[in-house]
Amino acid sequence: ELAQIGVTGLAVMGRNLARNFARHGHRVAVHNRSYAKTESLIADHGDEGAFVPSASMADFVASLERPRRVIIMVKAGGPTDAVIDELVPLLEEGDIIIDAGNAHFPDTIRRENALKAVGLHFVGSGVSGGEEGALLGPSIMPGGSPTSYESLGPLLESISAKVDGTPCCTYVGPDGAGHFVKMVHNGIEYADMQLIAEAYDLIRQGTGKSAAEIADIFRSWNEGDLESFLIEITAEVLAQVDPETGQALVDVILDQAEQKGTGRWTVQNALDLGVPITGIAEATFARALSGSVPQREAARASLPGHVAEWSIRDADAFVEDVRQALYASKIVAYSQGFDQIAAASAEYDWNIDRGAMARIWRGGCIIRARFLNRITEAYERTPDLALLIADPYFTEAVSAALPAWRRVVAGAAQNGIPTPAFSSSLAYYDGIRAERLPAALIQGQRDFFGAHTYRRVDRPGSFHIEWSGDRSETAIDG
Ligand code: NDP
Repeated sequence: ELAQIGVTGLAVMGRNLARNFARHGHRVAVHNRSYAKTESLIADHGDEGAFVPSASMADFVASLERPRRVIIMVKAGGPTDAVIDELVPLLEEGDIIIDAGNAHFPDTIRRENALKAVGLHFVGSGVSGGEEGALLGPSIMPGGSPTSYESLGPLLESISAKVDGTPCCTYVGPDGAGHFVKMVHNGIEYADMQLIAEAYDLIRQGTGKSAAEIADIFRSWNEGDLESFLIEITAEVLAQVDPETGQALVDVILDQAEQKGTGRWTVQNALDLGVPITGIAEATFARALSGSVPQREAARASLPGHVAEWSIRDADAFVEDVRQALYASKIVAYSQGFDQIAAASAEYDWNIDRGAMARIWRGGCIIRARFLNRITEAYERTPDLALLIADPYFTEAVSAALPAWRRVVAGAAQNGIPTPAFSSSLAYYDGIRAERLPAALIQGQRDFFGAHTYRRVDRPGSFHIEWSGDRSETAIDG
């Protein structure tokens, strides 16, 4: 009997995805470059369902029903290309290769083009939820051709997370769209984590509460609007005691945040598209700042703070202010991420349904949150919504939080507590809603030094001032 789907690459992610398929009653072919991983999967979990192990790629391909559906779950980059090169001669027209690793979307576009030329479908698919998600139900973001989704979609939907019975998997859009959306998901994850970290830092420094006490605060926040996986695990991390020293674990962890690159990719793409994703960018740079060891040492030794002793009279009120500032900043960060998806969708012709993306992020993935329901509803109300915060639900939420948000950002600035994501989100909010921006002055400066011209508020056309001459204005035709 032939297998319905195959997984090659059986490290933590591939192994768990294969088990997930088997547990859902699918016959799953499994393969790994080194046979030991395949053997250990069968030895440890062979009784969970119908696995068809193969030692060679040729046997693996031969064990699949047609159109063959092969998921590649190997180290992203060169290894993915190596596996594709090995697979292609073994496959036939109409077969589907799925790259479920963390590929960068331009690589996915390149691979899809190359495989289309030889009659194969290539589906770049985002998979979020880490090791546990892969086993118990991830959020899945497949791109590629719509035809491939007809055959592949039901299988992927069956193993994805479910929220209210709805699968956290849907067709995202052509070629690189799936990996793109996964990338932005990770960028939003960076922003969310940074905002939570700033909230913790503000409460810790502002009120002197212990990590364990702040864990309880996050637990209570997880009962409200902020309910999410990241808030939940934050409480767990803050409550953890270091077994060795008996201190809070968070106090013995080196304060240098690392990254694997998806945040950087998101910011690079936003710069290319000209989309201001300040929350994600600040979060990415905050990690970089934390890792700037020589600079931090030099600064710590010499730079003054000139801060007053922070006197917070009502700790509970301050904590509530921080909660509201966190919620408002989070709304801004998500709004920016969805703007980036809209801009990329237009640029690359992907036609991505943003409400559907929020829907498939409600479960399985790292940014899963109650709040994503509100985003889905906003895009259902207005599919071409220009700005997420301008949806009435979010406008009201941000407006209610605004006084607290301003108090927190002002207080942080006066007391020398770095809140790059909180403050840049507020600056974005004030910038985007401003009647007039000082961009007018920048246009004047550009015209002065580079004759770059400016447009006027009162009539169409481009204009230039004869700055070095009589300072008269000339109209420049298109
Ligand atoms: P790794 O990224 O650690 O990759 C190990 C796997 O890649 C092994 O099966 C290994 O085979 C195989 N491999 C490496 N080089 C080659 C090659 N040249 N040819 C063939 N196979 C090769 O595995 P993970 O399970 O952690 O992740 C898999 C993918 O999923 C990655 O792209 C990752 O970015 C992505 N991902 C990971 C998440 C996570 O939480 N870990 C979450 C979401 C996505 P061998 O055993 O023979 O060495």
